[in-house]
Amino acid sequence: MERNIFGELDRKAGLGENAAVPAETPVVVSDSVIRKLRLIVGDENVLCEAAQLLVYECDAYTLEKRLPGAVVLPQTTDEVARIVKLCAENNLPVIPRGAGTSLSGTVLAVTGGVMIAVTRMNQIVNVDYPNRRALVEAGVVNAWITNRVKGEGLLYAPDPSSQPACTIGGNVGTNSGGPHTLKYGVTTNHILGFEMVLPDGQIIWLGTEPDGGEPLEGYDLRGAVIGSEGMFGIVTRILLRLVRAPEGYKTMLGVFESVDDASQTVSDIIGAGIVPGALEMMDQLITQAIEEAYHFGFPLDAGALLIVELDGLNAGLTAQAEEVIAICKKNHAREVRTAKSEQERADLWKCRKRAFGAIGRLSPSYLTQDGVVPRSKLPEIMRFIQSVSTKYGLRIPNVFHAGDGNIHPLILFDDREPDQVQKAVQAGEEILGKCVELGGSVTGEHGIGIEKIDFMARQFSAETLDVMMALRRVFDPDARFNPHKMFPGAKRCNEFILKKRAAA
Ligand SMILES: Cc1cc2nc3c(=O)[nH]c(=O)nc-3n(C[C@H](O)[C@H](O)[C@H](O)COP(=O)(O)OP(=O)(O)OC[C@H]3O[C@@H](n4cnc5c(N)ncnc54)[C@H](O)[C@@H]3O)c2cc1C
Repeated sequence: MERNIFGELDRKAGLGENAAVPAETPVVVSDSVIRKLRLIVGDENVLCEAAQLLVYECDAYTLEKRLPGAVVLPQTTDEVARIVKLCAENNLPVIPRGAGTSLSGTVLAVTGGVMIAVTRMNQIVNVDYPNRRALVEAGVVNAWITNRVKGEGLLYAPDPSSQPACTIGGNVGTNSGGPHTLKYGVTTNHILGFEMVLPDGQIIWLGTEPDGGEPLEGYDLRGAVIGSEGMFGIVTRILLRLVRAPEGYKTMLGVFESVDDASQTVSDIIGAGIVPGALEMMDQLITQAIEEAYHFGFPLDAGALLIVELDGLNAGLTAQAEEVIAICKKNHAREVRTAKSEQERADLWKCRKRAFGAIGRLSPSYLTQDGVVPRSKLPEIMRFIQSVSTKYGLRIPNVFHAGDGNIHPLILFDDREPDQVQKAVQAGEEILGKCVELGGSVTGEHGIGIEKIDFMARQFSAETLDVMMALRRVFDPDARFNPHKMFPGAKRCNEFILKKRAAA
């Protein structure tokens, strides 16, 4: 017997039959269930027409697509709990969803089922300025929080590039990072506690409570849920930590002839004991696309650009910036520009954070990879990516969180060409395999989803995977929440879709 959660558990729960069903056959959400869903949330908050469901057929990982049986848009925790109970009674898969910006297929409705999108639960419930924390609903968009509190000199630190769209619930689902998490940490470091609806419909609170109550002694289940990709329950309200905005910034742009020189600079800056707020790299191809789209004034012939942002108390920032400039120069930087105004700094970040959006200038489709290598291995992985690009004849621009060793190769292809789709998938797999070989990881922040399930067994031992699955069973004994994600043996539809494309 195969040792995976979809073997042992599914037989008990009945989902095993679903698991044995070819991926082409989705679980049916009956008319009677649809009627009951409408009674809970109102007609306008239940979507089940094919045209309405199309919006929900995938996330930002667009290689695999599947329509859910219904999408429900609750507005309160009580509604979420009632929907979840109804799904439990009818043994239906549940897919929690935020804005659907995941890049690894974490919200794909592989078996159909009921998608619960929390985007209408979008209130910042309150901000506790003296204690620097905020209580928000799960559908609140990440950027809204800093926008709300910046006037008081505070900010919410995790800043994924998707922050104008992605939700805090989704950030909890994927333990999201961002450029400034080099210094400030990722989502888990900024979530004090949250309310969650368990797969049986119970409402619980994990971690610090909003009234100030500290968690009872025991396991850090808050930490276990963060990054569990919607497999443990639906998070509905979240208590966040706010941090004081830095007094000052020094934001620099290092212009290098080669990725190697820029990579060495990254290692040397950290080696010198400097921890910038952010340390981001862009290679030549992505720089050219960004420049064409946003006209910042980037040099088009540079081999690589480094954005180095120092932040903190004004006293000392200038001296530290001089040290950074010296390190850049030692590594043959052609020039180092410093943002002269807040506007210039904001424009630079706008370009960086909208980099993926500029890809449309280069290619009809792209696959974003997300791997991690030790910082010292950056030159090696970048050379490897170049060799993969040559091998498959696909262009691969790079824009990434260099300070964390978190790479984002963007594999360009044309999804109308089945051969190119196959090559893009293979190229991505080779790059991730190399990350593991170099002592890194197959994800830094985008999660496993369906995209990387096959890599889990390469990165973790069977025993470790068993423990992860056992933990999942504690929360979701029936394996109904966001099924067919993350664990080896989980079904994916990529292969049959690719086959269909090849046959078309
Ligand atoms: C242009 C672009 C740039 C990006 N940049 C970054 C980046 O810098 N850093 C980064 O980390 N990611 C980045 N991402 C990926 C993505 O934005 C993040 O993973 C984000 O956290 C997803 O949030 P979402 O609201 O879109 O969640 P979704 O994509 O809807 O869901 C993501 C996961 O969370 C689960 N989930 C959603 N809501 C809940 C809930 N309420 N309770 C429980 N589980 C839930 C889902 O089931 C799924 O597993 C980027 C994506 C794009 C398209």
